[in-house]
Amino acid sequence: MSALKLCQGPDCHTYHTQDRLKGPKGNKTIQTRRRSNFYYGNHNFCDQRCLYDWVNKYIEQGLDHFGRTTEPKHLTEENAWSKRYEWRGSADESHRHYFLNTITREQRPLTEAQYDDSNYTLNTGE
Ligand SMILES: [Zn+2]
Repeated sequence: MSALKLCQGPDCHTYHTQDRLKGPKGNKTIQTRRRSNFYYGNHNFCDQRCLYDWVNKYIEQGLDHFGRTTEPKHLTEENAWSKRYEWRGSADESHRHYFLNTITREQRPLTEAQYDDSNYTLNTGE
């Protein structure tokens, strides 16, 4: 049972649900959730409430520690390519995949394989 993860929500143990209620009769406690996996916050939280409890408690420390954004970032035309997909309902037409430049609105053709390849991009990354 040591493979079970504990929810990292600071107040998880204060939310009354049946699955958190543990222990023998007369000595029950509400406990932090333990599961083999969680779906929220990079697999660290049992639900959104616990995730946001953590965010609300630690976000200022986190921003101070890792550095705040103090200047606007710029997405240039060279890096504004986004993969798009246009579904076509009729059987004789194939779905259309294309790059769209979200600044210039230019479109460029894209094969389905290129669309599915997460490493394939037109963006220069600079
Ligand atoms: Zn939780």
